[in-house]
Amino acid sequence: MVVVMRSTATDGDIERVVDAVTAVGGECFVSKGRNQTIIGLVGDLTQFAELPLHAFPHVEDVIRVSRAFKLVSNDAQPRPSTVEVGRSRIGRDSVTIIAGPCAVETPEQTRLACEMARDGGATILRGGAYKPRTSPYAFQGLGESGLDILHDVARDIGLPFVTEVVTPADVETVARKADMLQVGTRNMQNFQLLKEVGLTGKPVLLKRGMTATIEEWVMAAEYIAHTGNLQIVLCERGVRTFEPMTRNTLDVSAVPVVQALTHLPVIIDPSHSGGRRDLVLPLIRSAIAVGADGVIVDVHPDPERALCDGPQALVHEDIPKLRETVARFAAAADRVVDFELGAGSSRSQGWGQGA
Ligand code: PEP
Ligand code: MN
Repeated sequence: MVVVMRSTATDGDIERVVDAVTAVGGECFVSKGRNQTIIGLVGDLTQFAELPLHAFPHVEDVIRVSRAFKLVSNDAQPRPSTVEVGRSRIGRDSVTIIAGPCAVETPEQTRLACEMARDGGATILRGGAYKPRTSPYAFQGLGESGLDILHDVARDIGLPFVTEVVTPADVETVARKADMLQVGTRNMQNFQLLKEVGLTGKPVLLKRGMTATIEEWVMAAEYIAHTGNLQIVLCERGVRTFEPMTRNTLDVSAVPVVQALTHLPVIIDPSHSGGRRDLVLPLIRSAIAVGADGVIVDVHPDPERALCDGPQALVHEDIPKLRETVARFAAAADRVVDFELGAGSSRSQGWGQGA
């Protein structure tokens, strides 16, 4: 951290900053220029975090030069991590497909959607039992009975599943059944929820807040890591922009930016970003080309009757294309697809970190 003093600062003002920093265990290096004095702070950044240095007399600016996040930073761990979800994995060597219905509606719909997901190459299933909806009048999800449906379908198919948890009160229930917990865009800065999901020790899928900067998103991951749980996968799901033709704007540049900052895997959600079925495969192509470690895709057997997000769900005829597209683009990016590593349903023994 660097403190820049105004040209009006006296020796007494400079000393005041130095004393405050040394009092919390830091060290200062003072560099006096003709017009300005710069004070370099050395030590653990968290030591200085509580100091209101901006408010000290004649302080012009306080500039952070090291990263605010530590545990998820690739300074802490230069090798990219691989997160294991049952027998499936998400990491830098492969491209993983997660797919399933946006929401669990009925046992039949969930089973059909999850079979579509498996046929499309998914090695992890998805489905929402607790739905965070913008409108209180919209379908809110089946809750615990939806979780049971998904659990049974996933067990029968032999794949692990990820599902969203929207409130700290439900974390224990969801963690008992799910293989991976999702924190959605609307909850990215629900710090209590981040801590609770972290404490379960289960893998966590952390979606980017729709108006969050990359740093805010990575700091949210740091909250989870701070509980001792480093099984975190980041998911870019589109950010809110001025463009109304798409539901959100997929920020593909976030993928290499995040990979340059952290050791965490990063996947993209082509369904909630574009919000349109016709954009799902093009966005998947762009994501794999830019280095994404996986994709999470909505599929539905009958999207016209879907209770949530039908327009963005892939349908039966798209399923072979999903599988082929991911395989072809993964090969071009020198990666294998997770299903090629044998993580599919034939290895059902590996299913179910969840009970
Ligand atoms: C979802 O994945 O079902 C979902 C609600 O996503 P997001 O939080 O990205 O809107
Ligand atoms: Mn959705």
